[in-house]
Amino acid sequence: MARFNGKVALVTGSSNGIGRATAILFAQEGAKVTITGRNAQRLEETKQEILKSGVPESHVLAVVTDLTSEKGQDELIDSTIQIFGRLDILVNNAGTAVTDAQGRTGLDQDVSDFDKVMQINMRSVVTLTQKAKKYLIESKGEIVNVSSIVAGPQSQPEMMYYGMSKSALDQFTRSIAISLIPHGVRVNAVSPGYVVTGIVESIGFPPGSFEKLAAYWESHKECIPSGKIGRTIDIANVIAFLADRKLSSYIIGQSIVADGGSTLVMGIQAHDMMAILAS
Ligand code: NDP
Repeated sequence: MARFNGKVALVTGSSNGIGRATAILFAQEGAKVTITGRNAQRLEETKQEILKSGVPESHVLAVVTDLTSEKGQDELIDSTIQIFGRLDILVNNAGTAVTDAQGRTGLDQDVSDFDKVMQINMRSVVTLTQKAKKYLIESKGEIVNVSSIVAGPQSQPEMMYYGMSKSALDQFTRSIAISLIPHGVRVNAVSPGYVVTGIVESIGFPPGSFEKLAAYWESHKECIPSGKIGRTIDIANVIAFLADRKLSSYIIGQSIVADGGSTLVMGIQAHDMMAILAS
């Protein structure tokens, strides 16, 4: 029997990237899935990929909506309950970075960008989780939040607001993990390192930009020690592990780093100690 048989999973941001891979994996492993995003065409692509792997159409609910609107969030929860009758797994994955078109960073970046990034990466997570709470308590379900290694402890001068949104998300994960575990609901997170997705294009860079970055990072051990940039399935597998109570029941309120070793290296390691000593 597939490990998520009989479960219902709602995966936000499943019209692309990590969310898409996660929704496909859950569906292939037996779950009924609600998939969502603003882009109807890309959401349909996710649905078709799920169906291609032999999942019945009755196991997929696609909801096109903007997650920053509470009306959209209500629609998402209500239609999931109406169609599938329950909710077992909530994956708060939708998110973005929001960079400045003029290249301003740190404190120079306009505070309206701070508002935008907090709106989707943090506020919508809080309100959607509030709306999902009673159904997750009924099912004694799981929440998996998608954080990032930009949450810290390293500084993020180029994407400060994005980093701040993910630090806040980590505190949210820890706090609600403790308030919900007495009700049987487990909350955890994954903190991906660099993963090839649509996120670089979504913040205004041309197609192929992430692949260009990936090629550079993969060839610099101080960027990705494993020498291989992450793929969406690498993160989907961690999300599925955290949503699978049989495998991860003793993990509460943690954020599991999956980054090819990126956060373990310091700049000094970028330089060859033996070559320096020999010079
Ligand atoms: P993508 O851009 O590929 O996917 C982002 C998803 O979020 C899309 O499905 C997009 O849907 C959805 N989304 C964004 N804004 C909204 C909104 N207002 N309403 C509804 N849906 C929205 O990026 P990733 O897969 O990379 O990002 C997924 C998560 O992973 C994010 O939280 C990101 O911060 C995190 N992450 C990514 C890393 C990476 O290197 N890629 C590293 C660490 C963390 P649509 O455009 O259809 O609205």
